[in-house]
Amino acid sequence: MTGVIVVGGGQAAGQLAAGLRQQGYTAPIRIFSDEAYPPYQRPPLSKQFLSGEWALDRLFLRPNNFYLQKEVKLHTGVTVASIDRAKKTITTTSSETHEYSDLVIATGSRARRLTIPGSDLSNVFYLRTADDVNAIRGAFLPGPGLPGRKLVIVGGGYIGLEVAAVAIKTGLTVTVLEMESRILQRVTTQAMSDFYHRIHSEHGVDIRVSTRVSEFRGNGTVQSIACADGTTIDADLVVVGVGVLPNVEIADASGLAIDNGIVVDSSCRTADAHVYAIGDCARGFNEILGRSIRLESVPNAMEQARVVAANICGKQSTYDTMPWFWSDQYDLKLQMVGFAADGEQAVVRGDPAANAFMTFYLTGGRVVAADAVNQARDFLITRQLCERRTPVDGAFLADVHTDLKQLLSQDGLGRPG
Ligand code: FAD
Repeated sequence: MTGVIVVGGGQAAGQLAAGLRQQGYTAPIRIFSDEAYPPYQRPPLSKQFLSGEWALDRLFLRPNNFYLQKEVKLHTGVTVASIDRAKKTITTTSSETHEYSDLVIATGSRARRLTIPGSDLSNVFYLRTADDVNAIRGAFLPGPGLPGRKLVIVGGGYIGLEVAAVAIKTGLTVTVLEMESRILQRVTTQAMSDFYHRIHSEHGVDIRVSTRVSEFRGNGTVQSIACADGTTIDADLVVVGVGVLPNVEIADASGLAIDNGIVVDSSCRTADAHVYAIGDCARGFNEILGRSIRLESVPNAMEQARVVAANICGKQSTYDTMPWFWSDQYDLKLQMVGFAADGEQAVVRGDPAANAFMTFYLTGGRVVAADAVNQARDFLITRQLCERRTPVDGAFLADVHTDLKQLLSQDGLGRPG
């Protein structure tokens, strides 16, 4: 049996299988996933699933009968050990070999692990899978005689901060330790870092920046954390969120090029015409940005899946949308498009103190990136402004009384036509 084989069964894989059938692909599709579940969304893991608001089956991208109806064979709980590109086969860890006509590598990424002393103590958690969250949720609950639990989060990135927002609401005492001088340093501007620092502090989260963790201490279970500055913090449980590593090992072993991700062109194709890579594991050329990027976001996984489904079906398609991402913390929806670092000038619209505002990043009179907090409508318009490279007027953007939609039919100077 040939057809498409997808290695990995996450967001990108699920979307690809659906996209292939939508585009009229009739040959077999097989998904191999080392997890026990059908393809599911990860964003709710640190939000509605962690809080208990959503049950497991609500995470699933599609119901099980979708795969039956669409004749997509799910091999769950199966790890792919190797790829033989000359023979066009994959081999699983249980030594089963399967042939493909096209292979899509959608192995995602894994949580980066700390190796400091005490990293193997129980109650030191990472958050990547539904099973990880089930384990964390169990430890959230107070034990006998314990009035409240002390959660320490290592890493002030999106996942750590989303966990903090859920945990503080459940009554835990929450401390976030960030080794950089500000939270979200890798992914956003000083102003956005300051904004989220304030929000979390107002909710009672103790954020400590410039604080490097050096050791987890305890007897079997973590009890405290020692920091490089000599401070010690008590902890009943720890969640570590210090970034991810792309799962590239089997691609690497098969001779494919790796450069912080599996290297693909704007069609998401590797140097092997029958092997594609999509989602968190892939470093692809983005036509709009004019450079290669590896992203860890749902819109990126979905878009790359769409591109590959079209290409496998013989319709030329390239990755030419502006990357975007979101994060939910408390009642704040943060949405970001593009990369703020690409902007030469920042224009703020709205009032950060009112928790509803946007920051546009402009270069050459065009919006190249934007952050929006609780501004969903304007964010949608801004994504289009970015993609169309519409010339804009900073004063018009900054004035909350203007309607951004008018810019989509503007006079060429960024003013409404
Ligand atoms: P994954 O969803 O990671 O799927 C890859 C799958 O492949 C995994 O199941 C993995 O176990 C499996 N696999 C790996 N190697 C093998 C192998 N050899 N054999 C078989 N199976 C294998 N993005 C946003 O845009 N917004 C958010 O708010 C957001 N929140 C997030 C919150 C959390 C807690 C996490 C973890 C991620 C979040 N993301 C968010 C990121 C987003 O979920 C990922 O970018 C997306 O899941 C990537 O999809 P993927 O299919 O590439 O990888």
